[in-house]
Amino acid sequence: MTRRHFLATMAAGLGSAAALAVTGCRQEVATRPAPPPAPADRLGVRQPTATPEPAPARAGSASERLPIARLILKGIEWDRAGSVVKVFGFDPETAWEVLFPVTKTQALPADYAPRDLVSPSTYGVPGGQPVRAILGADLAAMQRASGDALSIVSGYRPYQYQADLFDRYVAEQMAAGLDRNTAVERVSRSSALPGHSEHQLGLAIDLNSVEDDFADTRTGRWLYQEAWRYGFALSYTPRGEARTGYQYEPWHYRWIGRPLAQLLAEQGYLEDGERTPADYYEAIRSLLV
Ligand SMILES: [Zn+2]
Repeated sequence: MTRRHFLATMAAGLGSAAALAVTGCRQEVATRPAPPPAPADRLGVRQPTATPEPAPARAGSASERLPIARLILKGIEWDRAGSVVKVFGFDPETAWEVLFPVTKTQALPADYAPRDLVSPSTYGVPGGQPVRAILGADLAAMQRASGDALSIVSGYRPYQYQADLFDRYVAEQMAAGLDRNTAVERVSRSSALPGHSEHQLGLAIDLNSVEDDFADTRTGRWLYQEAWRYGFALSYTPRGEARTGYQYEPWHYRWIGRPLAQLLAEQGYLEDGERTPADYYEAIRSLLV
């Protein structure tokens, strides 16, 4: 999918997301989609280094920090003509897709689906939903470093699957006595409307357990400290709810590549209540438009 086509379908997707918001939710039973066939990896993802790099030095307090628009310049390369040629290790077309901000206000097109979906078992990680091959090398490295502690609860989820999932959660809340508006509001803190889920990118994974106490498990703590080394960032951080609209999800990691994940770690993003990963993706996208 080219950036131009992506833009066109994104516009269509925004239209359908708006229509959905108007018409309300459908009541359907969630079904697990069959994994699509597995095309070859299109990009050579860097192999992990044998020795992990040391933890990055933390940036100073918010008042001392550079604006995000300045920070991201570290990851951008231009040619002599002034065109962007590299974005945190990606070519611009790949960066546009991989670093696309998917938020409460920014949706993917309903028909957007990545082309390189494969079973995570390809990379030594058990799980029933596929992931993009582009993150495979880093996922395999993270699995090895964790001592084979990781399993995938959720990977790629198509638009319709997300629609069904959201509707099912709302129906459960209404069955428990809530009116529709209150049910939608409650479900929205932990589940995305169709088109607004990072899982549709095929780059977000829910690991091991989607229970709050996963944060206090050995593997949950390890991921919190180490996932950045393998190009993964926690999307919904402990202090990020006011910015993202989602409560802390210690299991939900999105692959963004190692260079950008390292920048986030250097900026102390996990403890940041003002800047969320999506703020960085938005800033990067503004350079690519
Ligand atoms: Zn998730």
